[in-house]
Amino acid sequence: MKILVTVKRTIDANTKIRVMSDNSNVDLNNVKMALNPFCEIAVEEAVRMKEKGDASEVLVVSIGDKACQEQIRTALALGADRGIHVETEASIEPLNVAKILAKVVAEEQVSLVILGKQSIDADNNQTGQMLAALTNMPQGTFASEIQIHGDKVQVSREVDSGLQTVELAMPAVITTDLRLNEPRYASLPNIMKAKRKPLVMTTPAELGVDIKQHTQLLKVEAPAERQAGVKVASVAELIEKLKHEAKVI
Ligand code: AMP
Repeated sequence: MKILVTVKRTIDANTKIRVMSDNSNVDLNNVKMALNPFCEIAVEEAVRMKEKGDASEVLVVSIGDKACQEQIRTALALGADRGIHVETEASIEPLNVAKILAKVVAEEQVSLVILGKQSIDADNNQTGQMLAALTNMPQGTFASEIQIHGDKVQVSREVDSGLQTVELAMPAVITTDLRLNEPRYASLPNIMKAKRKPLVMTTPAELGVDIKQHTQLLKVEAPAERQAGVKVASVAELIEKLKHEAKVI
């Protein structure tokens, strides 16, 4: 069974975000970039499936400029076998990403596609769902447990009311939630080995996808600064402040 994992290059989750002075976008100058955390969980899950003998090959794909090859190499160091870089300078929205992924799925004939539930930069939470719709594959989103049973896959989904378990016929699309697993760190020998693993490059045009923008980014604003908190000496003082200053009780 072949698994395709999608990996997106995003701002490192521990970095403080700066907005450009003209509010046109987030300032990416000298900012540390990393593998989107939900994609890291997707890679880990696929590698564990291979280690268990449920999968024969783990393929990773990233769409973006040349720099995203760094994230493909990271995924290869974490245990993926082969990388595909779909090179584009355009900042592409989820529908375009999903169209490109649909082409890769058709070319590679994969049984399972594992994506992150969302990119932490744009918080779209759309690509997996759109890919499932475009390819007519069943989807299990927000997965916190995945089990392969022959040609079916069982997914426990994190929903508002608790956990929902669904069974999907493969090929299928799964998106990862935070509790699915704890990703490993890449070891130095594996980082070195990853440099020799195959990575092919293609473009949206070569895959027959015409990139169209459907939305336009108008402005980006930083969240309002929160006021500093105050320390109170006793419960009585807290109640006094809640009553007379905040006027909430
Ligand atoms: P989004 O719908 O943008 O929140 O992204 C959901 C997931 O789709 C991400 O966690 C990635 O796994 C995948 N994805 C989105 N954009 C890209 C991209 N440019 N390259 C590779 N994977 C992507």
